[in-house]
Amino acid sequence: MVGPGALQRARRLCHWGPAVALAVVAVCSATAMADAALWYWPLDTAGGSVNFVMLLNWTVMILYNYFSAMFVGPGYVPLGWTPEKSQDCMYLQYCKVCQSYKAPRSHHCRKCNRCVMKMDHHCPWINNCCGYQNHASFTLFLLLAPLGCIHASFIFIMTMYTQLYNRISFGWSSVKIDMSAAKRDPRPIIPFGLSAFAASLFALGLALGTTIAVGMLFIIQMKVILTNKTSIESWIEEKAKDRIQYYQTGETFIFPYDMGSKWKNFRQVFTWSGIPEGDGLDWPVRDGCHQYSLTIEQLKQKADKRVRSVRYRAIEDYSGVCCPVTKGVKTFFTTPCTEEPRIALSKGDLILATRGLKHWMYGEKILISAADGGIRERGWFPRKCVEKYQCDSETDQPVDGEKKSK
Ligand SMILES: [Zn+2]
Ligand SMILES: [Zn+2]
Repeated sequence: MVGPGALQRARRLCHWGPAVALAVVAVCSATAMADAALWYWPLDTAGGSVNFVMLLNWTVMILYNYFSAMFVGPGYVPLGWTPEKSQDCMYLQYCKVCQSYKAPRSHHCRKCNRCVMKMDHHCPWINNCCGYQNHASFTLFLLLAPLGCIHASFIFIMTMYTQLYNRISFGWSSVKIDMSAAKRDPRPIIPFGLSAFAASLFALGLALGTTIAVGMLFIIQMKVILTNKTSIESWIEEKAKDRIQYYQTGETFIFPYDMGSKWKNFRQVFTWSGIPEGDGLDWPVRDGCHQYSLTIEQLKQKADKRVRSVRYRAIEDYSGVCCPVTKGVKTFFTTPCTEEPRIALSKGDLILATRGLKHWMYGEKILISAADGGIRERGWFPRKCVEKYQCDSETDQPVDGEKKSK
């Protein structure tokens, strides 16, 4: 099993996301099992056995779906991919990194460094993208983790309650009455001292936090699946409406992948075989839509963004650090809370800015020399380091375009 695959898997695991996620699973499961043995002895009682087996079952199913989502991955567009009919290339964006056309619904992920099929987002907790192939296992993990945590929380609370009741009634050092659900002889092997109480309380906090946080992510993913619209596609749709309204073109944008019923959308992701419908490159579209309805809209938005973006020129150097100390207090404290990169600037650089905050702007460096290989440099930089650059009529257009985008 030691091959490039194993190495790749090991690399996926070496990241703070999986380390924290697996530590939470380990702490909650181990504490829940220890507490379960104390509260409801599993070996010779039916209820205790069911309780314990269920607990084991949650752990196994959570880990199975977690590792499936991480190791199976979202599925990548094959390197050098082109659509079957060469005339369809005109409807698609080209990815310079992957040297392939971007298949409908795919996006290039900078973390994975590949074009990802039906990309939803890059999830740091699984250190991988959530997309076409792992959408079901990822969502199942998001469902099972809160359910397992609710069960574990119940055990933590019951154990602490029964143990505390004993101690408060009969003194901390001796237990006179066995309050556990199954009365038994001999008494529990595991002593429930202060440290055990602290561990249970800590695990309870973790489990409740996980239930709320992961449960919310589950609701978001169910919405994505039932509308068959990824988070990125929701954003594209919003921009489509904005673009149509701005130019008053009278077009109507219909999102092409919503099959019209929640059940049909659900069945695209969840199948009995566990393998999602289709091949991740060709997608069924609803009546009145074209196979490339969405990619054509993306191309229009890309062209529009170019028109509506504003040219800036760097007037100061900027090293590319997150919180620069030499660019003023406000710049230091208002650094954008995002994993998006910063771009280093040197005096005289030209930047095409597409969005901005009060003290920060996001844009793409305009690379003049061909030696840069056409790799785009995009990211945040302090507004203080640049000034608006008026050079030709092209820049006049976006200036009044900017009013609208506010
Ligand atoms: Zn790519
Ligand atoms: Zn990714």
